[in-house]
Amino acid sequence: DVQKKYDTRAIQELDAAHYIHSFTDTKALASVGARVIVKGQGIYIWDSEGKRLLDGMSGLWCMNVGYGRKSIADAVYVQMQELPYYNSFFQTTNAPAAQLAAKLVEISPPQFNHVFFTGSGSEGNDTNIRMVRRYWDLLGFKERNVIISRHNAYHGSTIAGASLGGMSGMHDQQIGIAIPNIVHIGQPYYVEGGKGKTPEEFGLEAAGWLEQKILEVGAEKVAAFIGEPVQGAGGVIIPPSTYWPEIQRICDRYGILLIADEVICGFGRLGHWFGSEYFGIKPDLMTFAKGVTSGYIPLGGVMVGDRVADVLIEKGGDFNHGFTYSGHPVACAAALENIRIIQEEQLVEKVRNETGPYLKKKFATLADHPLVSVAETCGFAAGLNLVQKKGATVHDCVPFDSKLEVGMICRGHMFGNGMIMRAVGDRMIIAPPLVTTIAEIDEMIELIRHCLDATL
Ligand code: PLP
Repeated sequence: DVQKKYDTRAIQELDAAHYIHSFTDTKALASVGARVIVKGQGIYIWDSEGKRLLDGMSGLWCMNVGYGRKSIADAVYVQMQELPYYNSFFQTTNAPAAQLAAKLVEISPPQFNHVFFTGSGSEGNDTNIRMVRRYWDLLGFKERNVIISRHNAYHGSTIAGASLGGMSGMHDQQIGIAIPNIVHIGQPYYVEGGKGKTPEEFGLEAAGWLEQKILEVGAEKVAAFIGEPVQGAGGVIIPPSTYWPEIQRICDRYGILLIADEVICGFGRLGHWFGSEYFGIKPDLMTFAKGVTSGYIPLGGVMVGDRVADVLIEKGGDFNHGFTYSGHPVACAAALENIRIIQEEQLVEKVRNETGPYLKKKFATLADHPLVSVAETCGFAAGLNLVQKKGATVHDCVPFDSKLEVGMICRGHMFGNGMIMRAVGDRMIIAPPLVTTIAEIDEMIELIRHCLDATL
């Protein structure tokens, strides 16, 4: 059916002629032709040639409830006919936005009683910068405007989001235009930095880099620290258990605001509504996007904790910041239905108690493969390290000559074998939809093993 409906060549030609793709060498892609994705159901997608692929990445970490949810489409259809749009500037609101704000407060940790809506995660992180600077300004500390972030972090693609982010590839392309007063510390990546230490020792050391940076910059100048509970796009970097409690202690000690970027970790990915809960930290601000609508429609925002909201609302007057699509009624209607599904099907609890532990057990078996040194998960996010030759410890393995090569080889096999998994440096990662069943996990692990074998 799919093959009859779409003319792959014709779509590829239009694409090659006119479409500049995100994070892609558009010229190189044009020479091979982009794969045309046309349909999704559950955890699978199909291309225009009728090939089925298991989507181990939930699209871009967002398809939490899986593809093909008619009730979300229905909610969108109804809302579009009732009120397709009205802004939330200038004294008005709309019912889905107000209801979603209340719902988000209900499912968030207790310090959160307010929400600011945006259209994406990047805009959410721009909002964080505006909010923390406004917060300190209102309290009379205008000079407290430095934000500390981490290498290899991903916080979005707007100039502010990319400046907060720590991806060298992005910074290399924006020399001179990264916004000032953002500084970076190392990431808590045990495989890279933990040689000779236990993970717990390394976790404390990596958190200590925050304190060093605060003292270097001057505590009176530091506004906030931002981090993803588990770094996602950077390669599913799961911090040692000692890391986040120590970060919290340091933020508290110096009165620094803690921002958790929950764009990936939020909405159940780690078996809790938010990744901060998994790690037992108490952020002042949380960025969200992706899983809030399971990607069905763009929506993002910031959960604003009482510490910031009380100052912003009580003392702030107009907050001169916002987007045309802030609180978009159709996106909010989609989010309400998406959250209803997550609750009804108990997807967060399933990932925490059932499918997440099963994925952990099965994924760990991949570590016996000759190409794999580490295979670890955190909820429904997982990463494995590819090596040329294994050593006595993870720090004594022989890496591939070229990290890019690993990705290309492995990714090539992945698509060919009907499995979508991403390569980040020498790490291969997955973040499957939260609806993935035990049988589908078995299928996924089989496929990954098969692709690794083909790479040998
Ligand atoms: N923050 C994190 C942790 C992300 O993973 C992403 C996107 O992948 C973003 C922010 C940016 O979100 P968006 O692409 O919706 O702007």
